[in-house]
Amino acid sequence: MKIFITGGAGFIGSHLTEALLNAGHEVVIADNFSTSTPANLDRVKGNPGLQVFELDIVEAPERVAELVKESDAVIHLAAAVGVEMVVKNPVHTITTNVHGTENVLAPAAKYGKRTIIASTSEVYGKSTNEKFSETDDLLIGSPFNSRWCYASSKLLDEFSLMAFHREAGLPGTVVRFFNTVGPRQTGRYGMVIPRFVAQALKNEPLTVYGDGEQSRCFCHVADVIRALMLLLDNKESIGNIYNIGSQELVSIRELALEIIKRTGSKSEIKAIPYEVAYAKGFEDMRRRYPDTSRIKALVNWQPEHTLADIIDDVAASLK
Ligand code: UDP
Repeated sequence: MKIFITGGAGFIGSHLTEALLNAGHEVVIADNFSTSTPANLDRVKGNPGLQVFELDIVEAPERVAELVKESDAVIHLAAAVGVEMVVKNPVHTITTNVHGTENVLAPAAKYGKRTIIASTSEVYGKSTNEKFSETDDLLIGSPFNSRWCYASSKLLDEFSLMAFHREAGLPGTVVRFFNTVGPRQTGRYGMVIPRFVAQALKNEPLTVYGDGEQSRCFCHVADVIRALMLLLDNKESIGNIYNIGSQELVSIRELALEIIKRTGSKSEIKAIPYEVAYAKGFEDMRRRYPDTSRIKALVNWQPEHTLADIIDDVAASLK
């Protein structure tokens, strides 16, 4: 198959590109290289099955439509990334996530292309549920707080895909990623694991925001890619939404201690108030734990990598 990946030079996109090429597919990438880098594609550079176009999906809708038309399937990953970047650039976040996705979904629906779009665990917002399930009601914070523009814009993307599916028969699927991590992820836009590992390797203090009791499940990018490939091939996933995440819940303080231990670092932990790290009135999610029974039931997917594997892989890639 010829697969069109928006954001294909990004952290997740570049791993997906490699996996699809290795499986014998052709890959066409559109990427504006705003938060990604050509170096992410070094391992597939010159591969005859790969075409890379530097273009912005918001600014070049006609070109995006052509690329969709010429492909057999579309995986839409291009988006504004990272909490820090979202808080600082809310207009850019909304424009990219809303108009960019519209520019992908409209032609995908018109030409009836198999489509998967990336959404996020952020859509669960301030839910206090023990586990987050795809059919849950969602509790997104107020527009007075910029953080929630990311969740809101991604949620609109989900509604758009479902609308195109129902009204125009778009064979589409939504995936909600829960803290995907691994080699090539940059800490520049806020992500905690590449930051902590880089700090630990330099024996600098690990910057734990808030009280450090907030918890997350970190999923290795290789597991996420495997989930995407299984869903791409699965017709029953059409018109559906899937959580993709690990079941290993860890507090950010425990994570910092584990990273210090595994890297043999002399670093200490430094607590930083949220308003210093982000902005006044910043609201974090206390706990985020995915119910992944849907994807497990459909394609028998569950993560194979542990948090220890993730830390070791990220550390090896940063050394
Ligand atoms: N975090 C932290 N120190 C950092 C970066 C992030 O304590 O240097 C915290 C952040 O406040 C959040 C968690 O780590 O509670 C995960 O942050 P990340 O940005 O990786 O993902 P999020 O779950 O917020 O989307």
